[in-house]
Amino acid sequence: IYVSYLENEKVNTISHVAASLAHEVRNPLTVVKGFLTLIRERPAPDEKVAHYIDISISEIQRTESILSEFLSISKPLSGGLERTNLSELLHIMMEVMSSYANMNNVGLEVSRSDYPVWIMANPDEIKQTLLNFIKNAVEACSAVSNGKVALRLDTNIQDALLFIEDNGIGMKQEQVNRLGSIYFTTKSSGTGLGLTFSYQVIRTLGGTISVHSEPGEGTQFTITLPLLSE
Ligand code: ADP
Ligand code: MG
Repeated sequence: IYVSYLENEKVNTISHVAASLAHEVRNPLTVVKGFLTLIRERPAPDEKVAHYIDISISEIQRTESILSEFLSISKPLSGGLERTNLSELLHIMMEVMSSYANMNNVGLEVSRSDYPVWIMANPDEIKQTLLNFIKNAVEACSAVSNGKVALRLDTNIQDALLFIEDNGIGMKQEQVNRLGSIYFTTKSSGTGLGLTFSYQVIRTLGGTISVHSEPGEGTQFTITLPLLSE
């Protein structure tokens, strides 16, 4: 308990700095992107210039998405818990992520319980959490041929059980141990914030996360979240 308290404190302080930095940087970026877009719409002086502007705009977009990832983690968990249907949110996030999976040549399948699975949660935080896990699973598969991500939702007497399985690159034990630590990433343009946020959301709700992973074979996450007792 002591350790996790300290970790939370550290995350909160860093989050605070990250949040104000992200806010401050976003505004001037928007201005620069706006002007570049204006220039881009004019008859281009030559092809090369047009190409350079396109690269600049897409790099600004990438910066913006990194910043939003910072902002999503740096907001303190908002509370705002409500009766939430996990099975519906899973369905929505599958749809949201399907084009990302397609782009990476990764199959995405869900065996969803058709009955509602009720938990007490903040729906936006759950959506962001599902997105983070699915995105990681897709990214883990992007380099393997025949990459597949499978999601399954089930329940037992007291918990919702969510299984997220991929046949991607997998992880060594040292990597598994670091999951959820702030800024832990093995990706060249990763932030290492996705799981920090997601682990906090799940733990705050009284849930658990367990991981089984083999390098070269894939990874299975099992997430539990307490069912809403009527
Ligand atoms: P990011 O995706 O920006 O790197 P995350 O917090 O989402 O940050 O993930 C942290 C790290 O955990 C990743 O860089 C990766 O090394 C590892 N990881 C997470 N999910 C998986 C997975 N499904 N398969 C393999 N590695 C994973
Ligand atoms: Mg991630």
